[in-house]
Formats: sequence, C-alpha cells, structure tokens
Amino acid sequence: MLVTLKEVLDAAREQHYAVPAFDFTEDVMARTILETAAEKRSPVIMMTLERDLESGGGQGWVYQSGIVKAAAAELDLPIVLHLDHASKIESVHRALELGFTSVMIDGSRLPFKENVELTQAVVALAHPRGVSVESELGHVGGMDLEDVAHAENVLTEPGELARFVEQTRCDALAVSIGTAHGVYRSLPNLNIERLKELNAASRVPLVLHGGSGTPDDQIRAATKEGICKLNIYADLRIAMYRGVKTTAILHERPDPLPFDLFQPLRQEMAAVIRNKIDLLGSANRA
Ligand SMILES: [Zn+2]
Repeated sequence: MLVTLKEVLDAAREQHYAVPAFDFTEDVMARTILETAAEKRSPVIMMTLERDLESGGGQGWVYQSGIVKAAAAELDLPIVLHLDHASKIESVHRALELGFTSVMIDGSRLPFKENVELTQAVVALAHPRGVSVESELGHVGGMDLEDVAHAENVLTEPGELARFVEQTRCDALAVSIGTAHGVYRSLPNLNIERLKELNAASRVPLVLHGGSGTPDDQIRAATKEGICKLNIYADLRIAMYRGVKTTAILHERPDPLPFDLFQPLRQEMAAVIRNKIDLLGSANRA
C-alpha cells in the first residue's frame, strides 16, 4: 500500500533502522526494487527525478507514478511514492495531482532564509493533502550521472538545523556530512561526530543522499547515529550495466533470441538491493 514518508521514517527513527530509497527510471528497475523489497519484507521509498519525469514531453510523470501506484495497490508492503530533488513549485503541484505521497524540495543552494521560505511554501501545499515534505540544509555536492559536477559540499550546521526544522515544519531533513552524489573518485569519509550533533538537534528523521559507493561500515555507523533514509541511485545503474554486459556475453549470437534479456540485469540489481536492506536493518519491518 502507498504510505507517506513521515509514516515510514518516524517508525524507523523510533526503532533505529533506515529505509532504503531508490531512484528509478525504468519499469524493469521499479519491478526489481519492489519485488526484492517484498521478498525481504522491507518498507521502500520509490523516488523519481524531475528530469526523468519531464522526459517524453512530460510522459515520465504518468508512467513512473502509474507503475508505483498500480503495484502498491496490490502489494501488502509500505511503499512511498516520492519526488526527489524538486527544484520548482510546479513539480510539486504535478506530484500532488498524481498522488505522490512525499516530495523533496531542494533549496540547499539558496541562502538560509530563502531555503526556509521555499520549504514553507511546499509544506503549505503538501500538508493539507496529507503529503510529506523532505528538505535539505547544507549541501550535498558531487556529480550527476552524466558526470556534470555540482557545487561543493557544505556541511550542515546543528544550530541552523533546529531553527530550520522549527520554522519550516518539514517532515524529514537531508543533511550534508561528507557523502556526495554520483560515483566516487575516492572513498568518502563521513563526519559521524557532526551527524550525532545534528541528530540530537533534530525533531525530524534525517536523510543521507549520495548513499551509492559509501562503504558498508560507514552506512552502518550513519544508521546507528540517526540516518533514517538512505538515497541510492548510482549503485543500481552500475549493477544494471554489469547485467547488460553479461547478457551481451551470454547471447553473442542472437540465435535463438534470449527468453529474458533482462534476467542478468535484474539479478545484479536485486543483489545490491538485498545488501542495502540488510545494511540498513529494514528487513522484516513491513
Ligand atoms: Zn540527492
């Protein structure tokens, strides 16, 4: 069933685990994520990015939300349909129209006051409709998957965090403690001491972006110290690419045509998803 971000993250915070959040772009990704989460009895957050939603003249909005809504109606599993990194209010309006249960507004590059105002505006739209809001304070930098560099990391300040949550009434907050988006060139080194201070200062569950490529022990430490949602995208793309290469090797001669072209891709992706669920402690929490 579809649930809000607030529901799954409040439960995770109370019982000290984190819920995996996966960006998906294709039906094969959505199915593999949902089937694997169901197998592990883990709540799951299905995230979509503005750029993919706007693809095909806006058809991405219909297809991506449609897949998750249809599956959630049948599956006995807590599933959040989440808009990831909305940069504009129009995207929030569209997500609300289509029945998303959660939106992230990203004003992390804005000055504090403007970030507060943008988040307040989204909360005012979303909360009356029972939709959760995630915001970001500090900035998680890095690369996107096209290797375009974004701004540098700016660590979140604990003093600012308490004021931000108080003023915006957001339901979850993404913090910057040393991860980055995209594929790492060198391993990250998370500032766990800073995370402890942030978690102590926060009334709401904390979110970690840039989860892909982060070493397992650091993910465990971050979950222990208050991260309740881990965002993953690049790790799934890497797994899919491994699967595509396996398919190409197995079926070098297309005779007969392979029955399931996507089977190796699904298997590679499912292995990554199982591993993240185990690391975060979200198995059997559904
Ligand atoms: Zn992100």
